[in-house]
Amino acid sequence: MAKRDYYEVLGVDKNASEEEIKKAYRKIAIKYHPDRNPGDKEAEEKFKEAAEAYDVLHDAQKRQQYDQFGFNGPAGAGGFGGFGGEGFSMDDIFSMFGDVFGGRGGFGGFSGFGGGGYRQPAQHRGSDLRLKVKLSLQEVATGVTKKFKVKKDITCPHCHGTGAESGSGSETCPTCHGSGVEIRTQQSIFGMMQTQTVCHTCGGEGKVIKNKCHECGGTGVVKGEEVVEISIPAGVAEGMVVNVPNKGNAGRHNGIPGNIQVFISEEPNDTFVRDGNDLIYNLLLDFPTAALGGNVEIPTIDGSKVKIKIDPGTQPGKTLRLRGKGLPEVKGYGSGTGDVVVNISVYVPKTLSRDEKETLEGLQQSDNFKGDSSTKKSIFEKFKNYFS
Ligand SMILES: [Zn+2]
Ligand SMILES: [Zn+2]
Repeated sequence: MAKRDYYEVLGVDKNASEEEIKKAYRKIAIKYHPDRNPGDKEAEEKFKEAAEAYDVLHDAQKRQQYDQFGFNGPAGAGGFGGFGGEGFSMDDIFSMFGDVFGGRGGFGGFSGFGGGGYRQPAQHRGSDLRLKVKLSLQEVATGVTKKFKVKKDITCPHCHGTGAESGSGSETCPTCHGSGVEIRTQQSIFGMMQTQTVCHTCGGEGKVIKNKCHECGGTGVVKGEEVVEISIPAGVAEGMVVNVPNKGNAGRHNGIPGNIQVFISEEPNDTFVRDGNDLIYNLLLDFPTAALGGNVEIPTIDGSKVKIKIDPGTQPGKTLRLRGKGLPEVKGYGSGTGDVVVNISVYVPKTLSRDEKETLEGLQQSDNFKGDSSTKKSIFEKFKNYFS
């Protein structure tokens, strides 16, 4: 099935608020819920499609990346579509979006939807870390791998993340008897409603530690440091965020590690000004070359030089394009490799020697140096366009 735009899937506007997105998703999820449409493959697909769209759009950061990159995300960031059809279960949707349906797995509360059934005890997820990285234009052009020493929560080396003092283990939680959830029954407008919440004793793990590790106090994580290698794809730009999965804080009790979000910032460059994937180079031509024509060398971002031909009678304000010499596009996003745009201006000397002065005074008399009306007009048009 062709992938539909996430906003289209949920039927919301690009500027929809978090609340509107949540509402729209809830409506679709209820309509296409598999318990309501048993055996209906199409409904199931719609249900999954909506879940994936919601997964991205309700998360401010994922949403921003989706808006920027579409489905693919920047290279190396993993992109979206984590559900992707494989290894995906309905249970994932419920445990993931418990907040939409009220409580963890609380879908069971709606009449006729069936009970939630047994759920896997919770796995703790470590929190995300943020890094800011400053890149030179050369690094943007080629992509770069950088190493960072990151202060973060690491798995406790003493108890290897279990949180239990050596020799001691864990026992089944006395409150939830291992299920990780507490079930409460209450009266609601739908009739008797059962809600499930995370067990307050074990935090959803279903187990409690008998003798807590003295290093980590039973959490299974301690403060530490790690050297993390991060690959940044070529073509990124100021303000983009590259997501590095599973390199963030360790999860409690050998849970799932968080991610590192790398915020891109750009160093200014002395030679080029960036305009999207194009690089603008201001070429100051000497007057004789502008008039006589000749060859000029232009620097490129990889450090090499390119020779370009200047036609006789080249006017200031003329632009030349060196196709494909600009910045590459971020994989799966953008309009292809950019160009180097050469903006030509002509240098007028500030002081003159006596000989030079005499030469120029001779030329001053020549009508050919006055410029005809069409040249004057074109300069005027250029000037006008520049400011409009
Ligand atoms: Zn420990
Ligand atoms: Zn419990």
